Amino acid sequence: MTADLHARAGNQNPGSQSALRGFNEQRVLATLRTHGTLTQAALARSTGLSTATISNIVKSLVSAGRVSTSPTTSSGRRALGVTVLDEADVAVGIDFGRSHVRVALAQAGFRLLGEEYAALEVGHLAAASIDVAARMLETLCERTGTSHSQLIGAGIGIPGPIDHRTNMVIRGAILPEWVDLDIDARLRQALDLPVFIDNDSNLGALAQITWGEHQECANLCFLKIGSGIGTGLILNGSPYYGNLGITGEIGHSTIFDQGLICRCGNRGCLETVASTGIMVELLSRTESAPLSIESIIERAKVGDSATLRVIDDLGMAVGHALANVANLINPEVFVLGGPLAPLGEILLAPIRRGLQRHAIPVIGDNTTLCMSLLGDRAEALGAAALVLRQSAALP
Ligand SMILES: [Zn+2]
Repeated sequence: MTADLHARAGNQNPGSQSALRGFNEQRVLATLRTHGTLTQAALARSTGLSTATISNIVKSLVSAGRVSTSPTTSSGRRALGVTVLDEADVAVGIDFGRSHVRVALAQAGFRLLGEEYAALEVGHLAAASIDVAARMLETLCERTGTSHSQLIGAGIGIPGPIDHRTNMVIRGAILPEWVDLDIDARLRQALDLPVFIDNDSNLGALAQITWGEHQECANLCFLKIGSGIGTGLILNGSPYYGNLGITGEIGHSTIFDQGLICRCGNRGCLETVASTGIMVELLSRTESAPLSIESIIERAKVGDSATLRVIDDLGMAVGHALANVANLINPEVFVLGGPLAPLGEILLAPIRRGLQRHAIPVIGDNTTLCMSLLGDRAEALGAAALVLRQSAALP
């Protein structure tokens, strides 16, 4: 227990043990809203309270119907997972992509109520996808019996760098249709909700420590390989936004000085050798029509040599870039997401080789590399998590 906690609780009602207990209960509830289900040990670490205090608070909150507990495992040991029960508040997560929009509804205890997905044409207008998302949200609310008054906000994932000073997509982004658009105002009007906008890779990273299997991970890097390549960083347990909010642009790290010109204006960026677009281009040269990502994944799984060669080159280049990140921030884990995730070990193996070749050996050997188990929902789930975290931060 810190002196600060005593002081703040004391200010509410000087000398009152019940005020202190009430304050600690709110702290536990806010932590669960921020992180999702946590073990009692993790709750103690996150709040700074003793395990005995946490145990008492959890018992009291269970009796009051504010949290539920369920058996789980932590580091291979049996533990009790604690989940907040606040069914009135519902967060919306919306993931806009180049060719899709996904909407998810989640309760405060990180329980997914439902989700909707729609395919969109590449090059669609941003306004059109906002209208589609608003209609999908209405449908989803009807289907799940959720009223608009229950919605506490919408988290929005955009596959491009967002300048946090303006909440706008910067030039050179993969979605040129969104540049110069006042996304915040448009979405607030279309959804009639407070909105929280972030880059899709940042939300993918947030999903791993809230919905994923890395809830107790302090330093994590989420890597999304798609038409663009981006990373989301979790440092010391929190998303890292840097100065302008534009972080993790690993797709524009230089891999070949004399390489192809990139859309960012530089030369030889990782994206010019390792995006899904380059992959399709290389493998479609002898085809009558461009291959789909799904067919490339199928070919890789049956051992097609050209496909495996391209994936190997792509993976080594990605691993090289990740080695620079690993040397800089020494994360516990790199989690991969995006449309190539179904490749599993076929893609992870060359990335691991690239990482080990270019990182300091002790870092290369001690950094885990895995695929996200959240699949292509990670960004929408992370967007809902962003809302839940914001609501937990309210006084
Ligand atoms: Zn570039």
